[in-house]
Amino acid sequence: MDLIALIEQAERTHELTKEQIIALLNNAAINETLFAAADRVRRLYVGDEVHLRGLIEFSNTCGQNCLYCGLRRDNENVVRYHLKPDEIVALAEKAKEYGYQTVVLQSGESHVYSLVEMTEVIRRIKALGLAITLSVGEKETAEYQAYKIAGADRYLLRIETTDRELYRNMDPDMSWENRRRCLADLKQLGFEVGTGCLVGLPGQTVESLAEDILFFKEIDADMIGIGPFIPNPDTPLSKEKGGDFTLSLKVMALVRLLLPDVNIPATTAMESLKENGRILALQSGANVVMPNVTEGDYRRFYALYPGKICVNDTPGHCRMCISGKIEGMGRKVAADQGFRRKSS
Ligand code: SAH
Ligand code: SF4
Repeated sequence: MDLIALIEQAERTHELTKEQIIALLNNAAINETLFAAADRVRRLYVGDEVHLRGLIEFSNTCGQNCLYCGLRRDNENVVRYHLKPDEIVALAEKAKEYGYQTVVLQSGESHVYSLVEMTEVIRRIKALGLAITLSVGEKETAEYQAYKIAGADRYLLRIETTDRELYRNMDPDMSWENRRRCLADLKQLGFEVGTGCLVGLPGQTVESLAEDILFFKEIDADMIGIGPFIPNPDTPLSKEKGGDFTLSLKVMALVRLLLPDVNIPATTAMESLKENGRILALQSGANVVMPNVTEGDYRRFYALYPGKICVNDTPGHCRMCISGKIEGMGRKVAADQGFRRKSS
């Protein structure tokens, strides 16, 4: 197989078979060619602007027990917190002051907040003129609908892996089918749907990563976040090897080739694994960054994985730092809310 010709073909047609994706993932010699092609597709379809979304980690309480995650319910080494609705809205107000046009409200999956409280928070933040992305896990259809009616625009729910058996092993109390149902509900309700996967889970194969990429295309996801799995010492996977930065970048670049017009974040986990990892991601297909706007100790307490960047920084500092990096690359911070502009 001529892999360079294959990349050129994917750049033109945005199609690859599973076998072709596997061949590209398995070959290190083509990496730079792949990243450059993804960068060109990014520029052609979504332009040079980088969309910033202010991330508010409003609660680390979680009723789930995902093996990889530091917020899992069995982890007793976590100081649990949940911000009051007024505090969440206050952080969104500050995010607006820092110039963000979108906030991402993320938390563990829990019932700490009633549906009325959540929808009220959404309504109040929406009234500030901000676009709202939610990332609060699996919910019933009616709850998603209530969030949408209240004004939420987007929803992030990674499928994590399309390998059903691996999913069962990693997420003991959860069902892959229910997660898939959630993604279908969200799409049907009119959310912009964000999904994605972890790279480097124990037992994960290159074949299944290829299937993940094809799954994103099949469900026509609007945003796709790819992050390396980073072993957390407070979890059952503490001794595992963890994901590889370059492999994560390759999965991300292939996603850009196959889904040219989607929004792709340069994920925090990439930067946590490698200095300037987000910059490399922005040069290999990504067009979104989600700087943290959570304040004080909560940043540290929201520890999905160790080595999380910027835990001692302020939201104002993060905003300045990332803008500087983006401009330093010759790109610019977008002036709009950054909804997906579908090319067909
Ligand atoms: N509770 C929600 C949102 C918070 S978790 C949910 O699970 O959807 C957000 C993401 O963090 C998860 O989707 C997962 O992919 C990622 N994550 C969790 N633990 C991680 C780890 N150890 N390394 C890298 N990413 C991790
Ligand atoms: Fe909870 Fe999400 Fe972590 Fe799973 S990944 S334990 S649902 S916070």
